[in-house]
Order: sequence, then structure tokens, then C-alpha cells
Amino acid sequence: MVLEPVIGLEVHAQLKTSTKIFCSCSTSFGAPPNTHTCPVCLGMPGVLPVLNKKVVEYTIRMALATNCAVAGESRFARKNYFYPDLPKGYQISQYELPIAQGGHIDIEINGDVQRIGITRIHMEEDAGKLGHDPQRPISMVDFNRTGVPLIEIVSEPDIGSPEAAGAYLRQLRSIVRYLGICDGNLEEGSFRCDANVSLRPAGSGALGTRTELKNLNSFKHVEKALHYEINRQKEVILDGAAVVQETRLWDPEKNKTTSMRGKEEAHDYRYFPDPDLLPLVIDEQWIQKIKTGLPELPDQKKRRFVREYDLPTYDAGLLTSERELADYFEACVRCFPNAKQVSNWIMGPLLGLLNAEDKAIAAVPVSAADLAQLLELIDKGTISGKIAKSVFDEMAQTGKPPATIVNEKGLVQITDSGAIAAVVSRVILNCPKEVKAYKKGKTKLLGFFVGQVMKETGGKANPKLVNELLKSKLAG
Ligand SMILES: [Zn+2]
Repeated sequence: MVLEPVIGLEVHAQLKTSTKIFCSCSTSFGAPPNTHTCPVCLGMPGVLPVLNKKVVEYTIRMALATNCAVAGESRFARKNYFYPDLPKGYQISQYELPIAQGGHIDIEINGDVQRIGITRIHMEEDAGKLGHDPQRPISMVDFNRTGVPLIEIVSEPDIGSPEAAGAYLRQLRSIVRYLGICDGNLEEGSFRCDANVSLRPAGSGALGTRTELKNLNSFKHVEKALHYEINRQKEVILDGAAVVQETRLWDPEKNKTTSMRGKEEAHDYRYFPDPDLLPLVIDEQWIQKIKTGLPELPDQKKRRFVREYDLPTYDAGLLTSERELADYFEACVRCFPNAKQVSNWIMGPLLGLLNAEDKAIAAVPVSAADLAQLLELIDKGTISGKIAKSVFDEMAQTGKPPATIVNEKGLVQITDSGAIAAVVSRVILNCPKEVKAYKKGKTKLLGFFVGQVMKETGGKANPKLVNELLKSKLAG
């Protein structure tokens, strides 16, 4: 029996509003415990929640960007459960009438475009945070996070592989960052994901029993955990046993999932409409206004880059993954209009540097104008491509413009054929053995001679001239 995985993802994205969803406490991260609290977010008796309009606006932005229909009327509901980090004993969420439903986004895997359905997007408040003291047998609670606004984005079970799940999450993260509604920081927990996974006979329309995976705080963990879980379920089914519906925790150290608890059903939460909050009515005009204000989204930008700059899809995808990177590329192309060359330098040395130092583009001292100037220096033949790499490294270290570095270090390319010819003659004189072999037909040695000349000139000789002069002198 051939089994195929069916994956659905639930993503919680923390909205970047300055205040909480139902009170005016600050949402900033890292404050001393329990300093961002008030009677409302602590759930004191007699208080009333007041909805933060910015939360609604941000959610509508996301709904429109993912092709969802925004409900003219939606409701908040109480999700009841008991846990020490939840002071009210319930979480205000949305249940039967969420703010947005029925959307989709397109993802690309190995050149194939796949459409992933979005079932719904709803707003809710975050819970607090428990801290466990390793020295003493006690736990402490911090309510700063209580009431911080979240949106939950629930996908259709349309995702057919761990790789597709990774692509979907990256695309979703890219969208929330483009929209400026969430910083998408997985490590700090402002972008979190739970995965539902089940198996079914390939081609069957039915759904098998699913498990829910938690604690997936990096894209790599999501893909690894799904691979593990798919194989685990496969073994269970092929053994003739049944998969148990449950919540499982990913252990990144042991690279396995372990059972955490039996999976709750919706009815376990005793949902009911929150009587403290009016139904949320959104008028069409507001939706239209938000729609007009949406930025160009990653997908649109990617298609435009292919069209406008004639870039390969791969380049366009990478350059548009972050808005700042795309802006940087465009600023650079405005000064130096060879788009493919700009793309090569961004995807190569620049991204290499960002990845190695785990930096954002804003933290790199090489401005787009300076990178463009560097490419111009190569283009005009002032410096060679090889020297340019070392100039780039220096720019990244010091923030100096490329022309300054080239002048200070005397890196200007030698294009005087008389000067190069002298070095070529010297090299030929110093390597009689290699010259003999070359003349006997070992023409591969040309590279060796080029290397020698470059060494003598500190890499500054014009490579084209070096090649030409070497060939003619060695032929003579
Ligand atoms: Zn508060």
C-alpha cells in the first residue's frame, strides 16, 4: 500500500501593535515580569475589554493579502480552559464567526506552483508565560504577554510534503513581514506553527487519523518533525495498528516526537460568544481603503522582477523574499543598470556575508550606491573581478566607499601592456620546465602561468591582457 501524507498548518503570528488587543498595556518584549499588566489583561472581576482597532486593521491586511473574504460581521468567543498562565480561565478568540475565511496563497516547489488553501484567519489574545526555577521546585508566571494580539492562520490540509510545509511557512512569513504586521521572529515566538499530519492511501480522498505536532520553532524543525512523524505513522499503519489522535511534542535534541496528551476536540473548550464584546461589524469602505494601501506583495514583486529585469525565477524569488533586500536590489540597479550582475553580487558575496554573520541587510555597512560603484569599477576595467571581492570584504568591514579603498591600497588594475609583458617575460624565464611541457602540448599549463603573473602583480594585472600576452609569447 502506498501512503501519502496530508498536512495542515496552524500558524500563530503576533501582531506588531504597540498596545495589547483589549487594553492599553504595552506589548514590548523583554520588560521585567508583570510590569505590562492592568486589571483587564489580568482578568480582574468587573473589567471590560475594549477592542484595539489596529489589531482589526492588521488582520484585514493579512486577510486581503491571502485572498480571504473579510466577514462584514464576526464575533469573539471564549475558549475555556484552565492553566496557570491564563488568569481569566478563558482565552478570548474567535470561533464560529471568524473575521476571514476561504483564501489561498501560491507556493513554489522545484519550479512547480502549488496553491494552498487558507481555511480561516481569526484574532485572539496570547496567554502569559510560565517560568520554571531549576533550583527550587516552583514555577513563576509572567503576565506581560497576556493579551498580546495574535492572528491564527489555519491552512486547508492541502500540503503534501514536509518541503511544501516549509515553503508555505516561508511564504507566509514573507507576507506578514512585507505587510509590516508581524516581525516573523521564530526564536522569540512571534511566529509559531503547529502541524497536523495524517496518512492515507495515495489518491484516496478520505482523511486518516491525524496527530498534532507542537514545539516547532524553526523551519528546519518543522520539516524534520514532519519527516519523523510521517515515517512513524507509516510504521504504525504497516504494522496493522491504528494511529492514535493525539498531540505530540517535537524534541529537537533527540530528533523525535513524543506523545504529550490526547488531542482535545473543539467541544472540550466549551466555546461560547463573549458577552463582554459586541459583534464586530466592518464596513466595506474600510476594507477598500485598507486594500488600496497594501504594498506590493512578495509574489507580485517576484513576477515583476522576472518581467522588468529579465532575471531567472530563482534570482527573483530570493531577492524578493525580504522587502528590504528587494529594495536594496532596486536601489542598486538604479545606479548600475546591469540587473543580472547586481543580482549575482547580492546573492553571492552580500547574502554570504549576511548568513555568515546572521545579520539583516540594514546592519550591513555596504550601501546600495557603494555596491553599484564597485560594479562600475569592474565594468570600466579599473579593478579586476577578483580584486573586487577583496574590496567588497573591506567595504563590509569598514563601510568605506570602494573608490577610496582602491586608491588607498593601490589596487587599480594594470592595463599597461608593456608593464604586463615585462612580468610575462620574467615568468617565462623563471619556469623553463613548464615552458618546455607547454610547448610539447600540455596547454593546460596556461592557467599556471596566469597564476604566476597574477602573483607577481598582486592580482592587479588585467586577466584578458595576461592571457593574450602569455599565449603569444609561449607560441614564439
Ligand atoms: Zn492590560
